Amino acid sequence: MVGAVQTLVNFCRANSVWPMTFGLACCAIEMMAAGMARVDMSRYGSEVFRPSPRQCDLMIVAGTLNKKMAPVLLRLYEQMPSPKWVIAMGNCAISGGPFKIEENYNVIEGVDRIVPVDVYIPGCPPRPEALLEGIFKLQEIISGHRHPLPQVKGLLAPHRKNPTGISE
Ligand code: SF4
Repeated sequence: MVGAVQTLVNFCRANSVWPMTFGLACCAIEMMAAGMARVDMSRYGSEVFRPSPRQCDLMIVAGTLNKKMAPVLLRLYEQMPSPKWVIAMGNCAISGGPFKIEENYNVIEGVDRIVPVDVYIPGCPPRPEALLEGIFKLQEIISGHRHPLPQVKGLLAPHRKNPTGISE
């Protein structure tokens, strides 16, 4: 019985992941695009970008993290209620990206040095579709199941061949 309830809770959590309104650099533009009509991540329960960390369970680190910003990012993360997850979006968030050069003293070479990261999305910048794939991966981590829609694409009627709306 407890297992069934936990499964239900995990299903609900996975399909109502609320990201924080938080962008650090150019990757944030692609993050915003993921909420627009073409990709429309709201179809998968993640449309509610909240302006307060206390109302979020997902931090999408989209952009370059520098040493001055790192304590702010950590504080925001700590203000989020548990359970909470982090997506590192883009090469900067993963490893410092193009700013990882010897002369550059102020860039953190990976946000996972500051907070635990659950999903990494490489690219400079990653496309909004890649962020959507990252959300699917996170849902899989939370519930143990991948969202079924992209997998049944071949079984759909011709006019519904592309249920995600994402061009191939
Ligand atoms: S990974 Fe590329 S696009 Fe993203 S923040 Fe860094 S420089 Fe900008």
